[in-house]
Amino acid sequence: MRFLITGAAGFLGSALANRLVQEGHSVRGLDDLSTGDPSALSPEVHFVRGDVNDRPKLWTLLQEIDCVYHLAAKVLVPESVLYPREYNEVNVGGTVTLMEAMRDVGVRRVVLISSGAIYGNQEIQPVSEDAIPNPRSPYAVSKLAAEYYVKTIGRLWGIETVCLRVFNAYGPGQHLPPVHAPVLLNFLRQALQNGTLVVHGDGTQTRDYVYVDDVVQAMIAASTAPGVDQMTINVGSGVETSVRDLVKVVISVTGNEPEVVYNPRSDGGPARMCADLRRAAALLNYHPSISLETGLRLTLERDPRLRPRNG
Ligand code: NAD
Repeated sequence: MRFLITGAAGFLGSALANRLVQEGHSVRGLDDLSTGDPSALSPEVHFVRGDVNDRPKLWTLLQEIDCVYHLAAKVLVPESVLYPREYNEVNVGGTVTLMEAMRDVGVRRVVLISSGAIYGNQEIQPVSEDAIPNPRSPYAVSKLAAEYYVKTIGRLWGIETVCLRVFNAYGPGQHLPPVHAPVLLNFLRQALQNGTLVVHGDGTQTRDYVYVDDVVQAMIAASTAPGVDQMTINVGSGVETSVRDLVKVVISVTGNEPEVVYNPRSDGGPARMCADLRRAAALLNYHPSISLETGLRLTLERDPRLRPRNG
């Protein structure tokens, strides 16, 4: 098949692109390199630098494409609190631009990579796709708005749409900014450097951490699965892990004894998050197979930024 991936030079986009070319597909990748790294891409991926809001570029890139994976986005929740306008422009505006261009060119299917963040606080866990969204940040609002645009424009113009709500994905190559770094990679880095693990809130909040290879499995299935048009599907590990337990696993896999500091006054985010995976199993035959401990070990092995300094 012929794919276009937006956000192809990012963490999830590059893992997906590399897997698709390995499987013999033809892949074009678009990324503005605001955080992405094109050297993460296999040379077989046809990479183009550009903005997801650039319609003429999209028209060219979309020619003869069977399925688009839309991942280009700004992804840092705390940053979105400071700069909501930018999150709206890229995550919502970029999605609308892409959908318009897909309508103009005529593409059969789009897979939007949405986020478990749209659920916010939910009483019932694991959370199913039927829960009423409760976004708590401009990032979460932007992902939810993108879902609505994708489904609505798709329905109006006969484009098949699948929205995957990915929970806390992690793995080698995840973007590691100096501030607002994702918790899991940040803990690994701090532990390896014998730094401090700062836990926001009391650490009892839970998350669903899913390894990148499992996410890629779901993304690949979403491009060809039958009966998924207009569907929204959770993608996680289905395992609920508290931040306190995450600290224990990080300490165990790194073998180091970093200092752990709790900051009960800072907001630890939603109390619980765990994906109900029944729909993903039924529609995508999705069965995540990598445990948190194994995923952390693989991340340590495969990410050169996480090599111990004196080891
Ligand atoms: P990432 O930052 O590594 O990837 C996003 C990519 O989009 C980057 O390479 C960036 O350069 C590119 N980009 C940003 N603005 C752009 C623009 N205007 N035009 C073109 N490209 C642009 O993050 P990621 O973790 O790989 O996330 C990929 C997608 O998955 C995002 O849509 C994100 O919302 C979604 N998601 C990620 C997670 C996770 O835990 N990593 C969870 C849920 C959803």
